[in-house]
Amino acid sequence: MSAGDRRTTSETVAWRQGREQAPAQAQAHDQALQRAAAEMPRHVRPGTLQLRALPPLALYVHLPWCLRKCPYCDFNSHAWRDGRADIPEARYVAALLQDLEASLPLVWGRSLRSVFLGGGTPSLFSPRAIDDLLAGIRARLRLAADAEITLEANPGTFERQRFADYAQAGVNRLSIGVQSFDDHMLQRLGRVHDSAQACAAIEEAARVVPSFNIDLMFALPGQSLRQAQQELERALAFDPPHLSLYQLSIEPQTAFARRPPPGLPQADLAADMQQALALQAEAAGLQRYEVSAYCRPAHASRHNTNYWEFGDYLGIGAGAHSKLSFAHRVLRQTRHAQPARYMELAALGQAVDVEHEVARSELPFEFLLNALRLRRGFDPRSYAERTGLAPSSLQPGLDKAVELGLLESTPTCIRATERGWDMLNDVLQLFLPPAAGGLE
Ligand code: SF4
Repeated sequence: MSAGDRRTTSETVAWRQGREQAPAQAQAHDQALQRAAAEMPRHVRPGTLQLRALPPLALYVHLPWCLRKCPYCDFNSHAWRDGRADIPEARYVAALLQDLEASLPLVWGRSLRSVFLGGGTPSLFSPRAIDDLLAGIRARLRLAADAEITLEANPGTFERQRFADYAQAGVNRLSIGVQSFDDHMLQRLGRVHDSAQACAAIEEAARVVPSFNIDLMFALPGQSLRQAQQELERALAFDPPHLSLYQLSIEPQTAFARRPPPGLPQADLAADMQQALALQAEAAGLQRYEVSAYCRPAHASRHNTNYWEFGDYLGIGAGAHSKLSFAHRVLRQTRHAQPARYMELAALGQAVDVEHEVARSELPFEFLLNALRLRRGFDPRSYAERTGLAPSSLQPGLDKAVELGLLESTPTCIRATERGWDMLNDVLQLFLPPAAGGLE
């Protein structure tokens, strides 16, 4: 019997106390309630959480193809090998909209504060396809008047008119996957673009959209601290409103994991790079507001900030993830990852591959995994609002982290100290559910 069924039965008992029933009538009533509970969509049935309000909602759309697979990439991205045909963009956009349509009952009445077209390489899709996609989204869901609409673009797919046409379709933020301005390094990273294309793409983004991001990597094979700083200097010369600085990491199941590139900086050097680059970016007027994200005032990524604030997101597209809250539960979903299978199943309204309810015991860890990435931390009241749990559920991990100088805590703010921010994995260990080895 589920918690929901138990709740239904106790409500029946309370009802009976106020009105005596004959045993047969009471039994029939119980059965009717149980049938009603069984027919109720699973996500709105009673459960163990009590969320007083639903968080803001964002939409993530995954566009899974790239010209070629980068050797360090562990995203759900697929090289488009068929040189004889174009990407099946019309069929894919139709599948996305069918997927969205089937998901609407999960987000009835809610409006979107941001849309993020990520990948893969979304800029492989024509402006016409992006226009159709955004029009289809608008026809099905309400967008906030000031909704942020981001498209990820790779310089290797850049053509001069393309960004302006995306802007015409409604995109108001571009995220450019530059990674490096060094042609030799770009080749080692398996990127399809060169430095000149990266610069042209940034200049065009600055011209046609109100905000843009540059993705830059550090701790690259054979890279010195000075070289990493020179790369950042090149990026800063464009005066970017937003910058994402990522350390190259070797992920399992990638070509680099099978054959690591020679000359990868040691952990100490990588940590020195991160510190030096943070100071350099801040000296240029960019505030580090998240572990890897820097921005000028009013240019923080609204979409990503919603993830870090443990907001909700509906993810459509091959392999996309969703996190959706209801009055009594938090649900996670993953779509089928293979694009061909995804398109087939989305057309039948069956795009979701895996769905599960986040266990109550896992919510503190899941919340902190996101919220502690933010420099400003979080208000314990927002923790209670987003998880449905009392702030006291963060003890004893919180006490221990404060004692170790990793977190600071006041009645209105919990955040990582400088030291804790550099050791987030260690901090999070203190909040693992007991079954996973956490504190009881
Ligand atoms: S372009 Fe981006 S998504 Fe595509 S393979 Fe390279 S790193 Fe992965």
